[in-house]
Amino acid sequence: MDTRGCSHLDAIESVKQPKRRECEECVKIGSYWVHLRTCQTCGVTLCCDSSPNQHASKHAHASGHPVIASAQSGERWLYCYTDEVLAEY
Ligand SMILES: [Zn+2]
Ligand SMILES: [Zn+2]
Ligand SMILES: [Zn+2]
Repeated sequence: MDTRGCSHLDAIESVKQPKRRECEECVKIGSYWVHLRTCQTCGVTLCCDSSPNQHASKHAHASGHPVIASAQSGERWLYCYTDEVLAEY
């Protein structure tokens, strides 16, 4: 993995996969999403920045959990919000 100096991505040994294919926050409020992301600190699956609520981004900033993985089937990449580094795995 080319992590370009991001210690958050360096620390990831196994990538957390989504438990459910839905945004937990959007389900609660009856909204919808475009793509899904899984937090690599706590494992919650939330919606992407193209979605109206951007729950994954909000979660990262509110919780200090910097790294998400794509939860789309067939996509294998991680992103660190703190360092703005994208890495395939
Ligand atoms: Zn980082
Ligand atoms: Zn959402
Ligand atoms: Zn989290």
